[in-house]
Amino acid sequence: MSQLEIKDLHISIGEKSIVKGLNLTIKQGEVHAIMGPNGTGKSTLAKAIAGHPDYTITGGDVLVDGKSILGMEVDERARSGLFLAFQYPSEIPGVSIANFLRAAVQARMVEGEELDATGYYKRLYSKMDMLKIDRKFTSRAVNEGFSGGEKKRCEILQMAMLEPKFAIMDETDSGLDIDALRIVADGVNALRAGPLGIMLITHYQRLLDYIVPDFVHVMHDGQIVKSGDKNLALELEAKGYDWVKQEHAAKA
Ligand code: ADP
Ligand code: MG
Repeated sequence: MSQLEIKDLHISIGEKSIVKGLNLTIKQGEVHAIMGPNGTGKSTLAKAIAGHPDYTITGGDVLVDGKSILGMEVDERARSGLFLAFQYPSEIPGVSIANFLRAAVQARMVEGEELDATGYYKRLYSKMDMLKIDRKFTSRAVNEGFSGGEKKRCEILQMAMLEPKFAIMDETDSGLDIDALRIVADGVNALRAGPLGIMLITHYQRLLDYIVPDFVHVMHDGQIVKSGDKNLALELEAKGYDWVKQEHAAKA
């Protein structure tokens, strides 16, 4: 079984240290929710793993099946089995979803190998059926004039087509309405048996009512300070984060 390991990871933005020794191991098929107050470095973690150039890894390692991805280009990281939503442009006028996905799938293939069009559409339609997505959807231009829910649908479809081993999803800033929330949840639940390992960063306890996580981690000041099962998310909803911070301060 594949695993994604984050080992004593340190990340800086410019001179500022944001992530300060984070450890986390995700096995294929597991959903790990990362929660925590604003500004604790959750998005920084996701973006750095995605290879965003503004984020410098100053220590530690990120490995897929024992192999470090830190020296890899963004497309190599994807080929190693990671799905990183950030690598995709948010809006591509004039490019249909079907063609965009086709290029994305082609880009994952070994050099010299050609994508067979009939097979591609067959696979696309079977994934769309699984995710209950209307066929008309794929003729629309990528993210052009999309609602929050449609953007999510496009992202989930990308994920289904690329069949990654691990997905890192940051739902913090996307302003998910209930419709979008359901699309993400239904998509993730359909794909997790793949098996897909998921790091699900979210503020929303409500999302975790639909996607029941195997593990919940609280991030505070650049580290994971508490881990538990799905009940931890309920406790956080009832009591907030202050008690976790206090518990952590008492241990330090
Ligand atoms: P979270 O996702 O947990 O809310 P972030 O990772 O977005 O937290 O932010 C962590 C810290 O890093 C914050 O203090 C934020 O201001 C800072 N930060 C995030 N992105 C940038 C950036 N591009 N440039 C400078 N500071 C940043
Ligand atoms: Mg964030």
